[in-house]
Amino acid sequence: MPQVTDHGGGVVSIPVPIPDNPLGHTLVHLLDTDRGPVLVDTGWDDPASWDTLVAGLGACGTSVTELHGVLVTHHHPDHHGLSARVREVSGAWIAMHPADAHLVRRLRAAPPGQWLDQLVAKLVAAGAPEEHLAPVEAARARGRARPLPGSRAALPDREIAPGELLDLPGRRLRAIWTPGHTPGHVCLHLEEAHPLGRAGHGRLFSGDHLLPGVTPHIGLYEFPGGPAAGDPLGDYLSSLERVALLSPAEVLPAHQYAFTDAPGRVRELLAHHRARLASLRALLASPRTLWQLTESMEWNRPWSRIPYGSRNIAVAEAEAHLRHLVALGHAEAVRGGPPVTYVAV
Ligand SMILES: [Zn+2]
Ligand SMILES: [Zn+2]
Repeated sequence: MPQVTDHGGGVVSIPVPIPDNPLGHTLVHLLDTDRGPVLVDTGWDDPASWDTLVAGLGACGTSVTELHGVLVTHHHPDHHGLSARVREVSGAWIAMHPADAHLVRRLRAAPPGQWLDQLVAKLVAAGAPEEHLAPVEAARARGRARPLPGSRAALPDREIAPGELLDLPGRRLRAIWTPGHTPGHVCLHLEEAHPLGRAGHGRLFSGDHLLPGVTPHIGLYEFPGGPAAGDPLGDYLSSLERVALLSPAEVLPAHQYAFTDAPGRVRELLAHHRARLASLRALLASPRTLWQLTESMEWNRPWSRIPYGSRNIAVAEAEAHLRHLVALGHAEAVRGGPPVTYVAV
């Protein structure tokens, strides 16, 4: 039986496990409405995760068949993975921001292996050395690409319109568009007094946008066959400021645990990214490729001890920061490449 947490005022969280993931589980939230319970996110598509969700709903005194709707904070598989199965069993609608719905459509339509082609092209443009490229190129040549977890994700039935109150009888829940982690990430602001009378403005379902002890990954807004575009880190930083201004009495994130002082947590995250941007800018005093920049950045261990897969994630994080410096006019590409070389301006 999962340890469900009653947050009061018709809000309960159910920890749904994510297989082989250091975060452990997704906190799926159950929100009572006059037309039946609604879920905020659903969890990873895995039999054990499904069983936990079903048992958790039972522990809350309801069941999957009773569900009225599913609100998805963003399209990632640890949030949207079980939505299709929930809809199948309950007939509940699924709502998502249109920018993430677009990504779901592109992921479903992508031919298998296309993402490997894209990864190779990106790594070449970044200036990755041959020993890093070889395993990806070999996998591509073997035609052995695993399908991405999102390739069978559910298409939503409804759009979440930013700034608007959602159609949930008996509740005041407003969608706050918070792009950055994904282009269509939303936080959901429950504009009702805190059940324990805590000071502040209601409660915020923050998805992956604002977590108490983890710096969320900044997405690159890429999709199979699509170009890298936009300034996701810039979007993320302004989205952080937007949720700090809401001053919620409590934050109900999709991982870890509920917490207070959203503005304080936002200040920490803003300071973290500002420090990262300043050190990157300093490194770009001499021209570097994205790969060279990533290697020179500070990580939680020396570059030589960072495992293969984590190096790709590190390159993505460096790219998000580099794109923001370029958008601010603090860095520019000096040689078209590949590999492309950048320098501070
Ligand atoms: Zn996510
Ligand atoms: Zn997540």
